[in-house]
Amino acid sequence: MPLSSRANELLQAFDQPGCSVCRLTAGSVHNYLGSLMYEYVNEPPTHMAVRAARGFCPTHAWHIQEQINASGLGIAVLYEGLVRNLLKDMGEVKPDSGRRQIVQAAGALKANGPCPACTHRTIVEEHLIRNLLEGLENAEFVEAFRRSSGICLEHLRQALNNNGSSSSKALLTSIQQDIWAQLQRDLAEYIRKNDYRFASEPMGDEGTSPRRAIEQMAGAKDIR
Ligand SMILES: [Zn+2]
Ligand SMILES: [Zn+2]
Repeated sequence: MPLSSRANELLQAFDQPGCSVCRLTAGSVHNYLGSLMYEYVNEPPTHMAVRAARGFCPTHAWHIQEQINASGLGIAVLYEGLVRNLLKDMGEVKPDSGRRQIVQAAGALKANGPCPACTHRTIVEEHLIRNLLEGLENAEFVEAFRRSSGICLEHLRQALNNNGSSSSKALLTSIQQDIWAQLQRDLAEYIRKNDYRFASEPMGDEGTSPRRAIEQMAGAKDIR
């Protein structure tokens, strides 16, 4: 069975450390935020979505601030409207305002929609997971996945809740269990070599196991 272009991207990502679904998702979210800030920052739907969400979630707001170059003007344009509407919806609260005004202000702080970048991430994750499960019907893809770092806990969760075939899910899970079994042995070996009696033994692959454990259980940094 020939691989889709998404499955081919996964195949390339298998050579890199960490969860491949996280890696490709993070790249896609970065591109999405870049084009949103450069090309769509003046579009009404962008403003509506950002206002409804009361701004981007902390992860994506800080991603824009720190990783999208020259986004100062774009941030100003989006957030000026956001803050103006937030103040309008809260209503003016004065030091002697009553309970009714506090309740109105409190209600206006709540988001009426999801962070647009989180919505984009969910769509991309689902698409990648579907292509991962379909790719596992291809022998070359299976071998490459077996040699990879596998996927993170959250992405395995998503894969097993996906509509994909049971045979692909079983294959995925069994390979992932082999990868986690190796991780667990590496962690045990790392602990052993930290014992002063064995401290003279050089570290091997287990030297990276604490970081791999974080990656495998939490997913990529800043993914959510
Ligand atoms: Zn992941
Ligand atoms: Zn977000």
